[in-house]
Amino acid sequence: MNKKSPVWRNFSSQNAIRQAVRAIVDVEPFESDFESELISDLIFERHYFCSVRELRPLRFKKTEEQKPYKFYGYFECIGWHAVSWYKCVQSPPSRRYHIDRALRDRISPIKLSYRRANPICEYCHSAPAVETHHEMPTWVHIMDAVFSEVTEQDIKDAFGAWDWFNEESFAIPEDNRITHTFDANHRNAVLRALCKPCHDSTKSNKQDA
Ligand SMILES: [Zn+2]
Repeated sequence: MNKKSPVWRNFSSQNAIRQAVRAIVDVEPFESDFESELISDLIFERHYFCSVRELRPLRFKKTEEQKPYKFYGYFECIGWHAVSWYKCVQSPPSRRYHIDRALRDRISPIKLSYRRANPICEYCHSAPAVETHHEMPTWVHIMDAVFSEVTEQDIKDAFGAWDWFNEESFAIPEDNRITHTFDANHRNAVLRALCKPCHDSTKSNKQDA
């Protein structure tokens, strides 16, 4: 599972592969198609969705829609679609990012109803509560527990079931083990309704929510 992929074989670090891609992309003019075997391999092997569906972009272009540019790949089945080569260099964190995001969406009704029941900040007891914080276990601990219990196949199944081309928000199927594992780990979590300053203070040591 941790075997180095073919793209990685020729590079000593993430930084080395980033520099190699930049050397290709930076010299291309905006709105002009180009081909790159390296970027094609990178997305085919590392992109959180394309790697699961075995999709390979054939051509690329960059546009001026955002700084320094917005990057697109051309896919036979759909045409042009925005795709980040940069995130593929850090592929595993990117998959975790999408799963994290989907699970936050999943519990947003729970967080909202908790806050409605506890409208005043539970730390300072004065300001209105605007955030729901995971006190124990922390959100990071819940996510670590989920990732230690699910398999690579569970993660692949979750992304395989998602229709990336329709640009819907990524949601994990109800019958996926990630969902069950998350629910089991989240069921007894202690929540706190907090005002913005008190919530910010919980983040001072580590990214958490
Ligand atoms: Zn407060």
